[in-house]
Amino acid sequence: MKHVVFKDRIKLYAKAGNGGNGCVSFRREKYIPRGGPDGGDGGHGGSVILRCDANEDSLLPLYYQPHQKAANAQHGLGSDRHGKNSEDCIVKVAPGTVVYDAETNEFVGELVKDGEELVICKGGHGGLGNARFKSSTNQAPRQSSDGTMGEEKVFWLELKLIADVGLVGYPNAGKSTLLSRLTHAHPKIAPYPFTTINPIVGTLEYENFSRLKIADIPGLIEGAHDGVGLGHQFLRHIERSRFILFVLDMAGTDDRNPTDDFMHLKEELRLHLEELSCTPYTIVANKMDSPGADENLAEFKQRTGELVYEISAELGVGIEPVRAHLYKHFFETRRILEETAEMDASENEDD
Ligand code: GDP
Ligand code: MG
Repeated sequence: MKHVVFKDRIKLYAKAGNGGNGCVSFRREKYIPRGGPDGGDGGHGGSVILRCDANEDSLLPLYYQPHQKAANAQHGLGSDRHGKNSEDCIVKVAPGTVVYDAETNEFVGELVKDGEELVICKGGHGGLGNARFKSSTNQAPRQSSDGTMGEEKVFWLELKLIADVGLVGYPNAGKSTLLSRLTHAHPKIAPYPFTTINPIVGTLEYENFSRLKIADIPGLIEGAHDGVGLGHQFLRHIERSRFILFVLDMAGTDDRNPTDDFMHLKEELRLHLEELSCTPYTIVANKMDSPGADENLAEFKQRTGELVYEISAELGVGIEPVRAHLYKHFFETRRILEETAEMDASENEDD
């Protein structure tokens, strides 16, 4: 019943801890006139590490705390004491976080599974104390080495949404209205394109507490795969949806009709990423309360042969069968498929 509006791209300034310097020291004790060198090594600096945490669902915390730093290590000490290592700085991120080097734009890595870690800035090494430099020819070295600097870098972090269901449709098709019917999210609804700028995630909860995350992905338009509108950013989110719900405006407009809309939407997805053609989907024909919707629907069925759910998101008509379809897909069909797969796997083990 919660909804989340999130920052899906943020800058992170990370600095690992410096290694401690090695120490120059000599043993000084009564009755031991010429104690040897006893300068310890410096400690190792902590690294900055991203850790995937399933409880996180946005980059928002990092938006407010963009500087993440590990402390510097302690320098080496006399009496052969090693400087203390400093602790790693662990930064929790949501599953689906992708990391790029902000300077080179190179892909650094991504975090998908709970607990997965990625070292983004390595801590510096501790320097060597003078005890290490003792040799047969140099019994009293005054030499030591300094710790190395911890890495310091700037990153772009992007969150690719991992939603169960992604709503895909032209601006104004009624996605936000449908989301507010299916879940208790309250996206902005307005009769003009691009009201939804951030993707919005709503949670659809069934009576038995099964839940699905549904993402309202801002309007796709033709050319989105080429970056028209805010296309690319939006397509990124759809990549991770496990199911696509196409929302079509059956009222049509002067220059568009829903059948062409559907063809174009599918084509845009395919051009962006071939795999998207394999994501299971279903179609809702929205605005069935509008004049002209019946004719458009008849044409749609005839030209595509697709099954559709006829709804009016605005009036709240026809919503239940859509819910039921999603339930069946995620909690019945999929479970049967998974169980079958498990059975197959265990049978193979027996062989
Ligand atoms: P989005 O851009 O796809 O998120 O579309 P919205 O949900 O913001 O809706 C765009 C416009 O269509 C709003 O003015 C809605 O009130 C209207 N609308 C949404 N669903 C229906 C419907 O079932 N019937 C009618 N007649 N209008 C609708
Ligand atoms: Mg919207």
